[in-house]
Amino acid sequence: MMASTIDRQALVRLVAAASEVAHAHSARPDGLCAGCLTERSRLAPSPCAQAQWARSVLDRYRVGAVTGATVAR
Ligand SMILES: [Zn+2]
Repeated sequence: MMASTIDRQALVRLVAAASEVAHAHSARPDGLCAGCLTERSRLAPSPCAQAQWARSVLDRYRVGAVTGATVAR
């Protein structure tokens, strides 16, 4: 129902981008976000805003409904 009103290619790109962000913005042992630190020298507590966005996208648009594949989490 929802996917029929959304450009599927855009949805696939969105989920792919969210997957990359979720992977990069993971928690370090000290609780800081690894992605924020390496990409921007930013000391952000994990989960950072980017990680929260990625998680919400992945939770909402499970790839299985679009491509039959599974998103690596
Ligand atoms: Zn981050």
